[in-house]
Amino acid sequence: MNVPAGLSTDMCDMVIQTLRQVVGRELPDAKVMDLDEKDQFPEDVIKKLLSPDVGLHLIFLPEENGGLGGGARDICRVSEEMASRDLGVATAFLAICLGTDPILVGGTPEQKSKWLTRIATEGLIVAYGVTEPEAGSNVAALKTTADRILDTGGKTTGYRLNGTKQFITNGGVAQIYTILAKTPDGPSFFVVERGTPGLAVGKHEDKHGIRASNTTGVLLEDVDVPADNLIGLTEGQGLKQANAVFGYTRLMVGAFGLGGGQGPLDRALAYAKTREQFGAPLVEKQGYLLKLIVEHWIDLAAGRAHMEQVALQIDSGGKDMGTEGSIAKYWGTEAGNRAADASIQALGGYGYAREYVVEKMRRDVRITSIYEGTSEIQQSIIAMYRWKETVRSKGEFYRDLASDMDSLQESDSEVGAAMVAAAVRGLNETILHMHQAKLTRNQIVMFTFADMMTVCEVAAAFSRKAARLKDEGHAQAEVFAAMSRVFARKAVRMVSVGADLCSGGWTSAANTEEMATASVFLDGVKARFTLELTAGLWPDMETVGEYLKTLD
Ligand SMILES: Cc1cc2nc3c(=O)[nH]c(=O)nc-3n(C[C@H](O)[C@H](O)[C@H](O)COP(=O)(O)OP(=O)(O)OC[C@H]3O[C@@H](n4cnc5c(N)ncnc54)[C@H](O)[C@@H]3O)c2cc1C
Repeated sequence: MNVPAGLSTDMCDMVIQTLRQVVGRELPDAKVMDLDEKDQFPEDVIKKLLSPDVGLHLIFLPEENGGLGGGARDICRVSEEMASRDLGVATAFLAICLGTDPILVGGTPEQKSKWLTRIATEGLIVAYGVTEPEAGSNVAALKTTADRILDTGGKTTGYRLNGTKQFITNGGVAQIYTILAKTPDGPSFFVVERGTPGLAVGKHEDKHGIRASNTTGVLLEDVDVPADNLIGLTEGQGLKQANAVFGYTRLMVGAFGLGGGQGPLDRALAYAKTREQFGAPLVEKQGYLLKLIVEHWIDLAAGRAHMEQVALQIDSGGKDMGTEGSIAKYWGTEAGNRAADASIQALGGYGYAREYVVEKMRRDVRITSIYEGTSEIQQSIIAMYRWKETVRSKGEFYRDLASDMDSLQESDSEVGAAMVAAAVRGLNETILHMHQAKLTRNQIVMFTFADMMTVCEVAAAFSRKAARLKDEGHAQAEVFAAMSRVFARKAVRMVSVGADLCSGGWTSAANTEEMATASVFLDGVKARFTLELTAGLWPDMETVGEYLKTLD
């Protein structure tokens, strides 16, 4: 068996330990709040993380270029850890990784050796310049141009860049920019060094959250770069290079969502143990605990199980992981937002006050469902690719997943696999029914598919992880099993509601034939979700609640 790429667990644990120490020392709550208040980029902290002593950036750089050669699993762990502390600093760091990616995936060996080695050894701050005022979600609408500069013999010696980039993280502080621009043969990435004549920093954005990250426009006016700075030395490879890393970068932002939600939730749990109302700590109030803490804890744990599964697939050489990355980003960031919102509620008026930091964390995590592809773009991607796969395979794709869950149920009946199998079958029937009814041209149907697909695939990953932990004799295996059962029921509920929304949403009550077809379809889906299958939700949630009460 091939050993997956990346660091050993011990090595990654060491990196996380170092990160905790440095971030704990350099970013106490008072400093985090001060940076937020002053809208200030902590250059000292970032420089420290990039210094030879810490060298956190080395994790995403290959060993042959002076890096540590970390894998997707390592980067996810680091991303989640940083995000749980300060998402602004995490974002500044992510942008360095993101800005480096086009070189990593598309650079020639000489370009990699030149730029990646410099980034590794000099700890350069990098910015990723793709977005423009009129090209956000639709990157292909970009207007920035890169015209060839020719010598007298007609050979291309360089490129002249003109255009405006918008919302660029590290835009005002970067030493290197990777800029996407249109060449005669299509969009291409260029390395542009700070100080190149014609490159200027644009408007500084006064943001809702992640105020410790620096976000600006980048203006390019007759910026001349040598032909060697065209990444890959072939024009028109830019979108391909951007797409090649999406599975991985979206996973990272999914990890940000999980960390950005876990940070405030940890604080909410600690608060609930000390805050007394009506004669007892809030954590003893059953509804409070299950609604505001347990449900979100489980949603984040499920997202983490899925993220780990996808990261391992990437590290094991899995290709074309874009849809899986989208699912991880969509679930992780939306669950993170919900968890942070519930954390404010859990602290009541104190949650709404700045002093308790949770309010800032909630503002911070809001960005995760916007940048690196909005939630609606993720929904479009997930639904489009999975719908095509389902139709192409005549339903085999999700039938296979359901069969996997049947097998898991046979070997372990405690991890909710039978419920996940039923949810996946309901999902499959919904896709095929809506396809046949020619209703998939409606974007809202596709968005609903994406929600159902996401929860089913995350639930399957969670059940697998819970079973694995039981096999390994993990100390919290029973708690994970309870969590996976709770989440499997969520998959059942969401598929049931999704089927209603998809089919019922379009059926006309006046059309008896349509009504009859929709009724048969919906009755068929819901017949799978028997009480016998799904009973016992609250005791499972209480098991998780009791466990959370024991955490320090
Ligand atoms: C703090 C911050 C940091 C950023 N950092 C970087 C960076 O470092 N580098 C970089 O290149 N970019 C960066 N971005 C840009 C970010 O990736 C874009 O803002 C994002 O992709 C959305 O683009 P937009 O803002 O133009 O919104 P739009 O694309 O205009 O979208 C507006 C709304 O319409 C929805 N929408 C768009 N298209 C569709 C559709 N087809 N169907 C349904 N709904 C749709 C979107 O989901 C969204 O809700 C950053 C942004 C922010 C705010």
